[in-house]
Amino acid sequence: MRLRLQITGLVQGVGFRPFVFRLAEESGLHGYVLNDTSGVFIEVEGDKDRLDSFLHRIIKEKPGLSKIYSLQHTYLEDAGFSNFEIRESEENGEKRASILPDISACDDCVNDITTPKNRRFIYPFTNCTNCGPRFTIINSLPYDRGNTSMKDFQMCPECEREFNLASDRRFHAQPNACPVCGPWTGLYDSRGNVICEREEALEKVVNLVRKGNIIAVKGVGGYHLVCDATSEEAVVRLRERKHREEKPMAVMFPDMKSIKAETNVSSLEERAIDSIEKPVVIVRKKETTTIANSVSPGNITVGVFLPYTPLHHIMLRKLKKPVVATSANMTDEPIVRDEKDAFNRLSGIADYLLTHNRDIVRRSDDSVVRIAAERQTPLRRSRGFVPSPLIVPFRFSKPVLALGANMNNTIALGIDNKVYMSQHIGDLDTPLAVEFYEETVNDFLRLFDMAPEVIVSDMHPGYYSTKFGEKHYGDKLIKVQHHYAHILSCMIENDVPEDAGVIGFAFDGTGYGPDKTIWGGEVLTASYKGFERAFHLRHYKLPGGDVAVREPRRTALSLLYETFGDEAERLELVPFKQEEKYFLINMLRKNINSPFTTSMGRLFDGVASLIGLRHKVSYHAQAAVELEQLAFRSDEASSYPFAVENGVIDQRPMIEMIVRDLKAGSAKELIARKFHNTIVQIIIFTAELLKDKTGMSYAVLSGGVFQNSFLLENAYYSLKERGFTPFIHQLVPPNDGGISLGQAVYGNSENTTRNL
Ligand code: ZN
Ligand code: ZN
Ligand code: FE
Repeated sequence: MRLRLQITGLVQGVGFRPFVFRLAEESGLHGYVLNDTSGVFIEVEGDKDRLDSFLHRIIKEKPGLSKIYSLQHTYLEDAGFSNFEIRESEENGEKRASILPDISACDDCVNDITTPKNRRFIYPFTNCTNCGPRFTIINSLPYDRGNTSMKDFQMCPECEREFNLASDRRFHAQPNACPVCGPWTGLYDSRGNVICEREEALEKVVNLVRKGNIIAVKGVGGYHLVCDATSEEAVVRLRERKHREEKPMAVMFPDMKSIKAETNVSSLEERAIDSIEKPVVIVRKKETTTIANSVSPGNITVGVFLPYTPLHHIMLRKLKKPVVATSANMTDEPIVRDEKDAFNRLSGIADYLLTHNRDIVRRSDDSVVRIAAERQTPLRRSRGFVPSPLIVPFRFSKPVLALGANMNNTIALGIDNKVYMSQHIGDLDTPLAVEFYEETVNDFLRLFDMAPEVIVSDMHPGYYSTKFGEKHYGDKLIKVQHHYAHILSCMIENDVPEDAGVIGFAFDGTGYGPDKTIWGGEVLTASYKGFERAFHLRHYKLPGGDVAVREPRRTALSLLYETFGDEAERLELVPFKQEEKYFLINMLRKNINSPFTTSMGRLFDGVASLIGLRHKVSYHAQAAVELEQLAFRSDEASSYPFAVENGVIDQRPMIEMIVRDLKAGSAKELIARKFHNTIVQIIIFTAELLKDKTGMSYAVLSGGVFQNSFLLENAYYSLKERGFTPFIHQLVPPNDGGISLGQAVYGNSENTTRNL
């Protein structure tokens, strides 16, 4: 296979390309390296082990003068290179290339802050040319101190000297600072009274965490809510105050050793945790873990990460304990960014606030990734990755603005041969989120100095992003079907050739179909030119519409009604009072407020409820997440029957057999496993039908349901075994956070009527 690396950093004029050349030759890999405006771009080919080792060595053995700020990697199908070469450089987009992501504290800086004799000992805003905040402090370009939130801090003579000395690590480090001249921290109580400042604040905050307090801590892209992750009581209190009942929260550990003490970490997971971007990585908890159960209740996994700013390093080193570090917000609102906001919105949640006087110009939440099928899948692409561009294999004929979906929203700009995706904006359901959204659209257009000529939105008339596009762009707006955008995003990041056709599995919770119903269990045949809906789940109804999303038991009842008709009223499988059940079935029977859907996400919900696992959810996809965890506990190989006719995948035979298994007293784990196996079988069966019909063998897996690693891995390997070439996400999320990439790609077509 082929490994593509896109590296930003100080990698030009420091012997990087010759180094890559030697490393490739030595590893027996073919391909090429070239300088582009943001760094170097590398493709090498060989077997996976050699590529993994190449990826590892490029970081470990890079030339002494070079620095890597970000590294995005993708495993692709091979391209048949016959040698290794250094190719001509790319020259476009100089200005945009200077907007770098925020870079986690480098080893040298960590060394400075932990060495008592150093003048930056325990100074939380230490940075250098190789690390520190970028994206979150830049007001405008060029990237000079005067254009950042460091502009009000006058460098002291000593810092000035470093800044001007070519041989110094802080030569032209724009946010350079020290305890004499730079920003400082302050500790406040929840009413806004200052308790203490500077080093004392850090000392004190550690003690407060130990005593079980909840602290709002200002970081690089927003505030975190922090508490002792080993204290059940503190974590429960945080949940109550944040109104976040059960959604898992991330845990920051002092170091890798402490992560390994609490979780089982594979080598790929370790690499991800310790990567430059320092994302939250979803890993398995150990049975013996001391992490409070309430951190990720009912979950065998937990999101872990390492300190990435000097402030975090100092706190965690003093504390010597893992802390919950979750975005500071009320559920579903954007992360808190400034002091005023912090005191307003967090005073009821945090006991204390540890803040500082370096402004956050733009928010950026922590990124989240997971390893599945030996690849890194982003679940949220934000801090550390944004705004590194994604390289596409064509040039945008006109600049494109993609407005994203409604959940997990991101926006994207397409220009030259690059797509710049925004940070995670979130669900556009609250006034604050909408404000953040509009801010980000304007911010990106200004920052990247772009006047979009094509604007792309989803087709859903109810999405805020669609309405925004209609209001501001009118005629210039084109709309793309949700699931096709999912498939396009996965095609482009996997370098699917221009003229190729693919079988696209777009499985998610909700997406608007051209027939005005809610799609979500879709098998498409697609190319960059358009798509056809080849198969979909059999339509069923959601009694009460959105209420059914929060109450999987309603979906369960609907599936029973579809399968057994009136007899469903007598089945005692889902917990409803008799009159409720009668009422809901009447709604289904008479088509009252019960929209049709082919949603795969809801099918997972419905089955989770049927087997008695979860009838109401407190966060999105909770029922499906729990169903997946059950499936891992069984090794059953069999699956349930289903029928395929006239493009419809009929799930009723499966529901019938699930009910039979339930009546026979089968274990929940077994049913959950057989259900997952069935979905894999549906993928294989329809893929083979389409392969026979069209000759296509590329299979693309996208949509939020593929965040389910059990399903993803089993589908991936089963497709592979049967001679398909499966493609999965490695650069953008399979959920709606990746939609803007697909929309941007769609926007490049001249023909806007290709959508069916
Ligand atoms: Zn540094
Ligand atoms: Zn200074
Ligand atoms: Fe979706």
